[in-house]
Order: sequence, then C-alpha cells, then structure tokens
Amino acid sequence: MKVFKFGGASVKSADAVKNVSLILKKYKEEDVVVIVSAMGKMTNAFEHLINSYCYAKDEVKPALNNIIDFHNEILWDLFPNRSHQVYVLVNELVSQIEDLLEKDIDERFDKSYDTFIGYGELLSTTIIAQYLTEQGIEVNWIDARNLVKTNSDYRQATIQWDKTKEVISASCTKGIYISQGFIGGNNHNEMTSLGREGSDFTAAIFAYCLDAESVTIWKDVPGMLNADPKYYPNAKKLEKISYREAIELSYYGASVIHPKTIKPLQNKDIPLYVKSFLNPIESGSVIQQSDKFDTILPSFIFIKDQILLSITPRDFSFIAEGNISEIFKLIADSGIKVNLMQNSALNFSICIKNDERKVTKLIADLAKNFKVLYNEHVTLFTVRHYTEDTIKEVVGVKKVLLEQRTRQTARFILQEE
Ligand code: ASP
Ligand code: MG
Repeated sequence: MKVFKFGGASVKSADAVKNVSLILKKYKEEDVVVIVSAMGKMTNAFEHLINSYCYAKDEVKPALNNIIDFHNEILWDLFPNRSHQVYVLVNELVSQIEDLLEKDIDERFDKSYDTFIGYGELLSTTIIAQYLTEQGIEVNWIDARNLVKTNSDYRQATIQWDKTKEVISASCTKGIYISQGFIGGNNHNEMTSLGREGSDFTAAIFAYCLDAESVTIWKDVPGMLNADPKYYPNAKKLEKISYREAIELSYYGASVIHPKTIKPLQNKDIPLYVKSFLNPIESGSVIQQSDKFDTILPSFIFIKDQILLSITPRDFSFIAEGNISEIFKLIADSGIKVNLMQNSALNFSICIKNDERKVTKLIADLAKNFKVLYNEHVTLFTVRHYTEDTIKEVVGVKKVLLEQRTRQTARFILQEE
C-alpha cells in the first residue's frame, strides 16, 4: 500500500482537482490511500465561521455563504450536470452544518471548534471522490472519524494507536481509498482534530497502521526546500534528508511537513517523498533512514507573527526550578506552544505565536507573581547548518532582540519592520 497526501493548495480549484485526478490515473491499478485536506483556504473559512458562531452571530450567515459559494463554484465546473448525485451529498453536509449552527454553544470553545472544523475535509473528499469515480478511477470514500481513533483533547487530539491500527488495517485492504486529513473521532462518536496542518500526520498514521511502502506528500513546491521561497527567493531543494534532520527542521518551524509526521514513519522505516503536483515526474525529496544524506546546505526557517514575553519574578527571586515550573504550568494550561526560551538570573523569555485570546489570558495569569514585558510583531528566524555569511545575509540590519546558538543551529528573534 502507498499513502498519498494532497493538501489544500493541491485542491484549491476545479482545475487543481482535475490535476489530482490526472496524477491518480497513473496509480489506478495500485493500492493507495489518498488523504486530502480541505480545499484551498477553507479551514481558515471554517475557523471564521466558528468564531462567528461563538462570538458574532451576525457574521454566521455570510461566513457560511462564503463556504458554500466557494464549493459551488468548483462543483459547477466539475459537474455541469446539476442532477449529479454529488449535489445531494454536498447538500447533506451543508444541512448538517446548518443544524449544528442552530444548537447552543458549548462553553468549551475547543469542543465547538472540533464539531465544525472537519467539514472542510468532509466536503473536499466527497467532491473529489465523486469526480474521480466520474473519471473512471474506482475509489472507496472512507470516514476518518471512524478510523483515526483519538482521545477527547479537542483541537489537538492524541491518537489511540491500537484501536486505530485495528480499524484502519481492517478497512483498507485493496484498491484506492480516499479519506480526510486532520480529523478523527473519539469514543463518544464526536469529531476531533489533530492540530492545524495535521493532514500530513494523518497520512503518516495510515502508513504506520498499514505498514505502507511509502508516503508521498504532493506539494506546490518541488520538494523539501532549504527555505520558504516566499521569504527567501533563492531557496534550493534538499534531495535526501534523514528522519532526524527532517524532525529538526519541522521542529524549528519549517512548514513543509507537520512535525508529528516523521515519528510514525521512522518507527516503521517508511520513506516519505515530497513531490510537486505541478510537475509529478520530477523526483522531489526523500526523507528516510540515514546518517549520510544530510548536506551542509544551510536551511532557513522564518516564523512570523510571534510575541516575545519577558517574565521576571516580582519578589526578585532567581529564575530557578521552582518558578520555572510555575511558569510552565501556566503555559501548559494555556495550550500555548513555546517556540524558543532563554533565561538569565532574573528573567525568563519565551517566544510564542501571537494568538491574542490565549496570550492575553496567559499574561494575566502570569501577572500575579511575575512582571511581564513583551515585544509584539517579532519573527523567529532559525538557520540550521549556519555560516556567518548566511546569517549576515538574512539578519542584515534588522534589530535582533535575542540570539541563541548551538553548533548546528542559530536562532534569532527579529523585530519586524
Ligand atoms: N485543512 C487543515 C488545515 O488547513 C489540515 C491540513 O491542511 O493539513 O489546517
Ligand atoms: Mg491546509
């Protein structure tokens, strides 16, 4: 069995879906599980819908209409015959969303979030499965909510591996299957989600459970690059990468693959290919077991929209085990992920995503025992395998608020202009 993953960009329009179908035609006779994300930026659109439902009822209708209109445009192009059964299936999903929007809001935001967020994937896979069938590719649509079994940690659910393996291996045996990335189901038959951009992880889960021969992530870039071409136009492709290096890169924020993807693959020694859906015959990158591959090509990783918090005990005590554990308890409770930390005698600094709701609460919680200062609009910039020249090239004259270096990795917090 092979596992493929197609992300939002690869299915963002009718033409993009046609392209996916052309790629899959070549695998018609093979056994493949195809994991698909929500189309284009639809997960953001669903986040907007959920926020409206929870905090701004007036905006619910336009937010939902935006989602419906976006899918309709794709549907009309792919299925000119308006009596095609895909319209019935899509309408069914839309009425489920409408029914859910009528219900009372659960006070746990994350639970409400997971009730809706996966509809982007349910819609995309429904539309694409119907289109592939139309194109003569026999596919089985399977429901990840019944296959990827998780706990109830909404928005970042943990996989129950034994159960998941049991159901997935019983369900995917022969032929082509299509399922949703990013979502799962808990023991109460509720939908859960695995964290934004989690579809790569879903592909790895299926691969692990099926002892797949490989995973291929189809992207709009030619492979795993040493930088995001949006921020660094001279980006080059990394041909072969070890699991270890890939984990390091994704840990530091390289957005090509979701950080949780590598571990299940490494555990079963399953190679991961990153290939271009625009140019499918090109070789792409491969991530697999080896200590030899990693070249010394420097990799640049930019994480924008961060905030740097500087935390000082009010009673002038040193930063030590006791208060670090207090600080970390508050951070863990807030659900915030720390991207970089550093301490001095009286000061503990953390760099985190500037998620306003969570950060405001964290600062308030910390303020009881600590003085908290912050710098907004900062970028966390990491260079793996750095040289002084590569650092100079990117940091240039930017204001450096904090710097950290090990032998392989240099990290900078830069003030955005
Ligand atoms: N659609 C989800 C997201 O945009 C999952 C994914 O694309 O991997 O976060
Ligand atoms: Mg996506």
